[in-house]
Amino acid sequence: RLSRQPESRLPEIAVSFEFFPPKTDAMEERFWDSLARLAPLKPRFVSVTYGAGGSTRERTLRMVSRITTDSGVPAAAHLTCVGATRAEVDDVVRGYAEAGVSRIVALRGDPPAGVGQPFAPHPEGYQNAADLVAGIRKLGDFDISVAAYPEKHPQSLDWDAEIDNLKRKLDAGAARAITQMFFENADYWRFVERAQKAGITAPIVPGIQPIHSFKQISGFAGRCGALIPQWLADRFEGLDNDPETHALVAAAVAAEQVTELLDSGVTEFHFYTLNRSNLVLALARLLGIRPA
Ligand code: FAD
Repeated sequence: RLSRQPESRLPEIAVSFEFFPPKTDAMEERFWDSLARLAPLKPRFVSVTYGAGGSTRERTLRMVSRITTDSGVPAAAHLTCVGATRAEVDDVVRGYAEAGVSRIVALRGDPPAGVGQPFAPHPEGYQNAADLVAGIRKLGDFDISVAAYPEKHPQSLDWDAEIDNLKRKLDAGAARAITQMFFENADYWRFVERAQKAGITAPIVPGIQPIHSFKQISGFAGRCGALIPQWLADRFEGLDNDPETHALVAAAVAAEQVTELLDSGVTEFHFYTLNRSNLVLALARLLGIRPA
């Protein structure tokens, strides 16, 4: 097992960390505190999400600008095209470029009615993520990541449509795909195999969601089509009011997932931090990554 080898024998691992724009002063303090603790791990980039329907447009820009100027960590800004004209989206892209941000996570976004509801593009907007990637490409030399769904996007007709869509996004100029959270590594490998069969060669980076709160994560997973396996629900059952045991189980579950992926040859990981650092610091350590 690779994960049991001395650190010096581990392959070089690249990590990225996803944050969300904080809403309050207290949340903002936690954001910067977590970033300060994770920055010494030398992530490839730290990304900041774009609130549903573009609701955090200004805050996302403010956070990525400050990450870029203050922390020395490369920042990636998420961007969606739902509910906006091409001109409006293009303005956001130009704003990112002016702030020195050259990495974008390009997404379609979800309709205001919620995840899983039918999507209708803005009449003057980008049609979907592939169209958005092509649009961003025209505006400059950005490093673009796109989303991938190891359990299939809830709106995909079938697996062929899912993989075709991913291929369109990569062919339009994205450098890599980052997956939605998943808890069965077998789903990830089946997805990678399907992608490879379709001729996709770009990295498909697993998105790892440490379970800080089972209640919160299982609610979110349900909305975005990620299945919570029964064994996982069983592990957290009855722990809602026992934060210490909950945290230990969460660490064990995430450690198992990450080391299994490492042992099977994965060398790039994206962590959904929810603006927290503890679990991610521990997981990075298991991958042989120490603060510089
Ligand atoms: P797309 O790739 O455009 O496609 C979504 C679905 O529509 C696919 O099933 C595809 O098969 C189908 N489809 C696309 N084009 C066509 C077509 N021409 N004909 C038929 N079917 C088509 N959301 C946010 O609001 N803000 C964020 O910051 C954010 N960050 C994310 C980060 C990651 C890593 C991931 C995995 C998701 C993120 N999301 C975010 C959620 C994302 O916006 C939703 O999952 C959304 O429903 C789909 O976006 P997409 O970019 O995958 O869409």
